[in-house]
Amino acid sequence: MRALVLHKEAVFSAAVADIATTELPAGDVRVQVDYSTLNYKDGLAITNAAPVVRLWPMVAGIDGSGTVLESQHPDWKAGDAFVQNGWGVGETHWGCLAEQASLKGDWLVRRPAAFSARQAMAIGTAGYTAMLCVMALERHGVKPEDGDVLVTGASGGVGSVAVALLSGLGYRVVASTGKAAEAAYLQALGAHSVVDRAALSEPAKPMQAERWAAVVDSVGSHTLANALAQTRYGGAVAACGLAQGRDLPTTVVPFILRNVALLGVDSVMAPRALRQAAWDRLARDLDTDKLASMVEEISLDQAVDKAQALMAGQVRGRIVVKI
Ligand code: NDP
Repeated sequence: MRALVLHKEAVFSAAVADIATTELPAGDVRVQVDYSTLNYKDGLAITNAAPVVRLWPMVAGIDGSGTVLESQHPDWKAGDAFVQNGWGVGETHWGCLAEQASLKGDWLVRRPAAFSARQAMAIGTAGYTAMLCVMALERHGVKPEDGDVLVTGASGGVGSVAVALLSGLGYRVVASTGKAAEAAYLQALGAHSVVDRAALSEPAKPMQAERWAAVVDSVGSHTLANALAQTRYGGAVAACGLAQGRDLPTTVVPFILRNVALLGVDSVMAPRALRQAAWDRLARDLDTDKLASMVEEISLDQAVDKAQALMAGQVRGRIVVKI
């Protein structure tokens, strides 16, 4: 089978290679991967920009979708359509930028009938995380009539899906981006208005004028600090990313004077029931025409170059990889 293999011996390398399926790791479900994708974490792994990979050599790819080939797991049988996201796949267990993968049945979710394998990977971990963020805000009680919702990193994968989901649910969305040229793209996804991310990315006071009923933040650092500082009394911020940085230079002031809630969102170890609920919600709430407008399709052979472009901030929306 062909796979994108990462090696780290004297030097790091990332290249498509032929490997025997007999070398696949232990797992109770063997799958054929029809489509995979490049998420931010795949970019980090494939360019070796951060220590994402914990086992060498590694087959890259945290996400995959396709068909079960054989299964020893009671929930899965040959022919079933699956979606794989996270669980350390592509980090500590060989991943899905490959023709086949050996996975655990407990990791997989059923691909909703509404989505093809390609559409499932157009969503990928980025889009499923955007849905988890929206669900976290809903659990907090945020409603469309509460006011504007800010989405940071809006032209990225998480951001694009968050804009489309929130606008589809009736929220007035303000999209923050560093790519002024993508304003029309973001408005077509449903953003009511677009702001320059420079207004949020610099150090500023921990409490500022109240603007947002809620925020979906995939950027972290000063951007998250400013988002918290501008969130209205009783509002909530769903934080899932660190594209600007892993730091959070703020104070407790937004929490103790404005009753602002900071909601952490993790997709990698999210329990199976929550995952399935998120995918079922995506099937109901995500406009597939908007999804199509976010997607660029590449081949496995183009994945290394595209991962570098992703890390350089030169990618808009979502990348699907046709295996
Ligand atoms: P993308 O690369 O697709 O998008 C990130 C976006 O962030 C960019 O498009 C850009 O948007 C913005 N950005 C990039 N660099 C900076 C910077 N220095 N300062 C401010 N904004 C910046 O990545 P994803 O959408 O796939 O992932 C976004 C983040 O979410 C990543 O940190 C990722 O690790 C995290 N993540 C976390 C998950 C979880 O389980 N918690 C799951 C999935 C992702 P623009 O140009 O529009 O400003």
